[in-house]
Amino acid sequence: MAMMSGKEYIESLRKLKPRVYAFGERVENVVDYPMFRPHINAAAMTYELAMHPEFEQEMTAISNLTGEKINRFTHVHQSIDDLVNKVKMMRLLGQKTATCFQRCVGLDGLNGVYITTYDMDRKHGTDYHEKFKEYLRYVQDNDLMLAGAMSDPKGDRSLRPHQQDDPDMYVHVVEKKDDGIVVRGAKAHITGTVNAHEIIVMPTRAMGDEDKDYAVCFAVPVDTENITLIFGRQTNDTRRLDGEIDAGNAKYGIVGGETLIVFDDVFVPWDRVFMCGENDFAGQLVETFAGFHRSNYGGCKVGLADVVTGAAFWMAENNGVEKSPYIRDLMAEMVGMAETCWSCSLACSYQGSKTNSGAYTINPLLANVTKLNITRLTYEWMRLAQDITGGQIITLPSEKDLRSPEVGKYIDKYFGGKAGSSTKDRIHMVRLIENMAVGAGLPEALHGAGSPQAQKMMIGRRGDFETKKGIAETIIGVKPDKYFEEITGKTEDEYFAEFRD
Ligand code: SF4
Repeated sequence: MAMMSGKEYIESLRKLKPRVYAFGERVENVVDYPMFRPHINAAAMTYELAMHPEFEQEMTAISNLTGEKINRFTHVHQSIDDLVNKVKMMRLLGQKTATCFQRCVGLDGLNGVYITTYDMDRKHGTDYHEKFKEYLRYVQDNDLMLAGAMSDPKGDRSLRPHQQDDPDMYVHVVEKKDDGIVVRGAKAHITGTVNAHEIIVMPTRAMGDEDKDYAVCFAVPVDTENITLIFGRQTNDTRRLDGEIDAGNAKYGIVGGETLIVFDDVFVPWDRVFMCGENDFAGQLVETFAGFHRSNYGGCKVGLADVVTGAAFWMAENNGVEKSPYIRDLMAEMVGMAETCWSCSLACSYQGSKTNSGAYTINPLLANVTKLNITRLTYEWMRLAQDITGGQIITLPSEKDLRSPEVGKYIDKYFGGKAGSSTKDRIHMVRLIENMAVGAGLPEALHGAGSPQAQKMMIGRRGDFETKKGIAETIIGVKPDKYFEEITGKTEDEYFAEFRD
């Protein structure tokens, strides 16, 4: 089957019947439910742009399994170029949607499982990798969107999975049968699930021997029996019911649209199980997946920074202050911070490497640095966007007032910008900035792909402090400085003795 267009993707969702709840009610028609539709439109962009020749390099790839052209969101990276094109794709889609387009989590899951199952089979003599390649072929042939499900509810964070009072705080295997396994538990904060075709489930942390039942990885269709999806709320989410302006980005939403996924004794056939008890590989899968996802953030979030920077500049022009040295300084700051994060994403891609499986992975230290920078700098560039926009970002009347026959004329008059400009457009631009700079996008930049502590743990582990200590010791002469001796023709003792004498 060929790649799907945006429209075909949306129509493909109509064939699925996931058990979805939102606002206390069952949602039977996911596609036309107004609270979901902006997220669906954003995900549809990952399909639509792949159909356009001008985006072919970023949005498509050649499958290593079939030799066919596929959507890059189903591709296992085969080169450094693939890694670089992936983050270019993220920035492009961030610019086109100004929000989370969701499909990357599944992409990173596919790559993480591909790499890990290869290593697992070498050590344990299992056959997960070949089974996974079959599954990947199915995903590529049908251009499917996968929700990547990693975060468990975790209960008492000081306890390991098997120590929890309630064993369901982490997804675990409750039964092994001849034809498959039965799993129970939940995954929380999972992006894009209501509008995905499939869910790929991975462990959320490294697991010890006593946690073997929790070391499980599998894929299921989103409408599998006994799976329930409960949709999360976001700041100002119901504004999308109010029209086109107040939501700010009514076309594509605020963040990804996250769900709690409940697995209430879900059966998974063996051909869709890619880890079952190999606890010694749970940590590798988590790190590989997380590395990929953290490398993305200097792409997608920088695409968002491009939008908010453009919106702030628009506001400055509309206020007649675009030439003010203060505004120009703020604008330059915004661009400088965003491009710093972009440089990080490019660097961790260019410094990637080939894994045993033949697939390529990013440089994990630099990927974690990328995400850590995003956790800080997103707040900073959004703060500057708020500064440029002014206090109206939190005081504007509603779209209904703007359209009111009684008071609309006052809003049009008193909230206008420089002569000749449209007050409606101005209010809409303020709302876009509010949506991006005040709403759920901020904590998403902090906690998405793992909280800052998770990045610092990995950076700490890979920071190579011993080597750096040795470098410092060489500078003060605790260790021999071979090159200094070459330059001076003397040992350090001989060199300094001349000053002392
Ligand atoms: Fe993709 Fe960024 Fe959304 Fe993660 S936060 S799913 S990388 S768009």
